Amino acid sequence: MKYPVTVYGDPLLRRKAESVDKDHEGLAEIIENMWETMYYSDGAGLAAPQVGLSLRIFIADASAAADEDPELKNFKKVFINPEIIETYGDEWIMNEGCLSLPEIREDIKRPDKVKIRYLDENFESHEDVFEGYPGRIIQHEYDHLEGVLFIDHLSPLKKKLIKNKLRNIASGKVVPHYQIKIPAKKA
Ligand code: ZN
Repeated sequence: MKYPVTVYGDPLLRRKAESVDKDHEGLAEIIENMWETMYYSDGAGLAAPQVGLSLRIFIADASAAADEDPELKNFKKVFINPEIIETYGDEWIMNEGCLSLPEIREDIKRPDKVKIRYLDENFESHEDVFEGYPGRIIQHEYDHLEGVLFIDHLSPLKKKLIKNKLRNIASGKVVPHYQIKIPAKKA
């Protein structure tokens, strides 16, 4: 089942997501539905708050970069209750997009490496360092669990320049090919 994607303007995207228990009801199904939603929407990553669930879960598929790095061919991972231990390495710019901010793409600078502790879909604990493209996806998705969006990394001037686009998303005027949940109008 595909979930509708929550978009900019939805307060859920600004909330810190909650930890997940191993026996969380329907967890396996939630993860399966997240994959289905992400692939249908042509995303490389998806966090639970983007599908209306305030849970500390995100998924990442870095296989799109397999041409440059063949090791990424099968990079498909689930991160539950992740904790970033540190980010380090040279900062680099990548043009980022987000399913919750349809039609917006901006150059975002982030550190290359991220050291992260997390549980996989079987609740096995891992501590890994990711860099390059997967490191980028992971930092972007982790932000969602903290209520942070990639546009928050823009300079105030750049953010001002996309103000109208943001307003259009929040008012349901931007219609992507995937289903979205239009934020409720403020009274
Ligand atoms: Zn995003």
